[in-house]
Amino acid sequence: MDERAVRELLAALTDSAGTPLLAEELITSVTVEPGWIAVILTEQPVPRDVLVRAHSHLSAACAGYEVELRCGGRVFRGGYGFGAKRHVIAVIGGKGGVGKSTIAVSLSLTLAAMGFRVGVLDGDLNGPDIPHMLGVHPKKDRQRGAWPRERVNAIRAPQSRRKPYQRWGLEVMSVGFVVTERAPLAATGRWLVSSLLRNLIFDVAWTADIIVIDAPPGTGEEIQVMVRELPLSGAVFVTTPQDLAQMDAERTLAHLREHDVPVIGMVQNMASLSCPHCAESIDLYGASTRLEDAGVRVLGRIPFDTRLSVTADRGLPLVLGDPRGPVAYEFARISASVRRWLADRDQQLLDAAAA
Ligand code: ADP
Repeated sequence: MDERAVRELLAALTDSAGTPLLAEELITSVTVEPGWIAVILTEQPVPRDVLVRAHSHLSAACAGYEVELRCGGRVFRGGYGFGAKRHVIAVIGGKGGVGKSTIAVSLSLTLAAMGFRVGVLDGDLNGPDIPHMLGVHPKKDRQRGAWPRERVNAIRAPQSRRKPYQRWGLEVMSVGFVVTERAPLAATGRWLVSSLLRNLIFDVAWTADIIVIDAPPGTGEEIQVMVRELPLSGAVFVTTPQDLAQMDAERTLAHLREHDVPVIGMVQNMASLSCPHCAESIDLYGASTRLEDAGVRVLGRIPFDTRLSVTADRGLPLVLGDPRGPVAYEFARISASVRRWLADRDQQLLDAAAA
């Protein structure tokens, strides 16, 4: 396989009138390395169905090669973007401090316990806490300041991608491993968020089939860029039952819908507290139904449990420390729903391809 053969294959891909789907001038460059083909298209957006057809055409003709198409900085590797039957799930919080990172870690560990290969990507630029929660403390790899632009945008063949960290059976990467200071983030803003997260998805040697992203907090530009530019299969909301928290999440919901990113459901965190004296369940917030009314289903409810924060500080998440407890049980229920949802989502693609 070489560049010319790949270009010829692309030129042979035509619509019903015989016009090439990807005209010569839309193809900026073609790189072929052992086991890997990368086609860089124009900066202009190319319709998704054209990417899907070009990808499956090349993949079928080039057995043994991982095929990747890049277009205006976006990357497409088949499936919903990250590869066939591979998924990127964003855990989104809206309001800060609702337990987004805690839920992202527990969900990842539970999915891994179910037999998935799972990676967790800490994308919370304002407070990358996931490594701390998992007890991952890399030293030698840290750099001060932002990655140079050329490095973030570099295209790396699979064999030269950086390896994720490993902990408790998870693959782990964090924006905190590559950007250690907050000041440059504000300065580089939008460019950095999208490039960095994309880079951490596509230019890291994940073996994971599911990457769970602990999304940037808030409803601001970082979230909007993520929703627009990353290959998300779906999103999980984390909120408290408080109306204010759900109002924030509702704003993000609008962006997700606008960009056709489906919502898997929501986890209501800190929903209740068990009274230490009489074991009665006490509601901590008024129970808002705002998100449910907007069509988001409840995947599960996690009670307020001080052990969740204590164990996070020790780097041993509660679902591992107390795997038979009620919190672990609720996460098992939540993860089972996510697993079913992903299986349905894979089936939808197969059905669409067969139609
Ligand atoms: P976010 O990522 O939304 O900012 P975190 O996951 O960092 O939120 O959680 C904020 C704080 O609340 C942390 O100290 C965490 O340990 C604690 N926490 C999260 N969920 C619970 C819970 N269900 N019970 C008790 N403490 C919790």
